[in-house]
Amino acid sequence: MHSSTIELSGSALRNNLRFLRKLLGPEVAISSVVKGNAYGHSIEHFVPLAEDCGIGHFSVFSADEALRVLESRTRPDTRICIMGYIDDAELEWAVGNGIEFWVFDCMRLSAAERASERIGKPARVHLELETGMNRLGLQGAQLDRAIETLATSPGAFELCGVCTHFAGAESVQNHLRIRNQIEAFWEGHERISRRLGAAVRHTACSAAALRYAETRMDMVRIGIAQYGFWPSRETRMHFQLERDPDQSGAIRDPLRRVMRWKSLVMNVKTVGPGQFVGYGTTYLTTRTEKVAAVPVGYHHGFARNLSNLGHVLVHGRRAQVVGLVNMNMFLVDVTDIPSVDRGDEVVIIGKQNRSQITVSSFSDLTRNLNYEVLVSLPESIPRVVVA
Ligand SMILES: *Cc1c(COP(=O)(O)O)cnc(C)c1O
Repeated sequence: MHSSTIELSGSALRNNLRFLRKLLGPEVAISSVVKGNAYGHSIEHFVPLAEDCGIGHFSVFSADEALRVLESRTRPDTRICIMGYIDDAELEWAVGNGIEFWVFDCMRLSAAERASERIGKPARVHLELETGMNRLGLQGAQLDRAIETLATSPGAFELCGVCTHFAGAESVQNHLRIRNQIEAFWEGHERISRRLGAAVRHTACSAAALRYAETRMDMVRIGIAQYGFWPSRETRMHFQLERDPDQSGAIRDPLRRVMRWKSLVMNVKTVGPGQFVGYGTTYLTTRTEKVAAVPVGYHHGFARNLSNLGHVLVHGRRAQVVGLVNMNMFLVDVTDIPSVDRGDEVVIIGKQNRSQITVSSFSDLTRNLNYEVLVSLPESIPRVVVA
């Protein structure tokens, strides 16, 4: 048996997608972003759940992730798109299986053309425009060449989309840069559509979709928000303030966490006053304390810098981590929680009774982003789908 379990809530996902669809309106499609093992939720468990909620398009970073989506999908018409890395050798596989992929240089385009000739199927490509992030993307003469390649070998390609990615839509600091990117996108798009006709336009991640309505276009690529997390505290504040300008507090968080990470009490012991607890001398008892051991450590993604800082839930109440987080274990103070016993449930992320530990409270403490905490949850922890 594994020492902890991650539960995935189907109703929370349904709730989040309902909220997003209402916000986006019926004209905007959603591509569900499931890179990074579906942000720690597990591709194999998350993909069928999302399909049940009506998702028909998934975006991943690389070909190995695309293969996992391909093997987990329950519908043959579910589409898969690789936004990042594909080895030239994997292109044939991608073309053969109808996997879509982003093109950000002409070398990949020629390789895709060759793969298409060998396989006898068109390569399904999305042209990525460089609009100011200066990471990946076509621009200038390279873009012109790519357009010409597509225009002159129509049988080799199916143009599935024109896209770009914003350099930090979750922070108002980047406002001007985002605006300039939107403008640059439309210029590039104009050059493409003049020669090649219409294609699905998609630029927005969660933060852009929530904050800049004009970035929604034909499709949005939603990662973090579908899992029930805000891209940043600022995005959430902005959203709440728009709807509740006098801050009456009437607006509840429309997102629900899909994930609940739980373990159990492995052992409880009573420690007298004036004793150090765990390795070294970071925690000294000030009274007679009850200390519970939880069999989860930094090996499992419970960050070491939560030592003496993090909290978990036991019997619906918060219990603080005492001492250093070990590789496979940490200790919590349960002195003030009555009758804690071996085998009692411990919630590390999520709800227990009326209390909740959010990943953001977790990650504020460790100064990590939601994203980083989520994807650092190892694949070896079992996932189970619950209602
Ligand atoms: C990860 C990613 C997204 C999704 O971002 P979220 O902030 O999680 O919604 C969208 N587009 C690209 C290119 C990405 O890499």
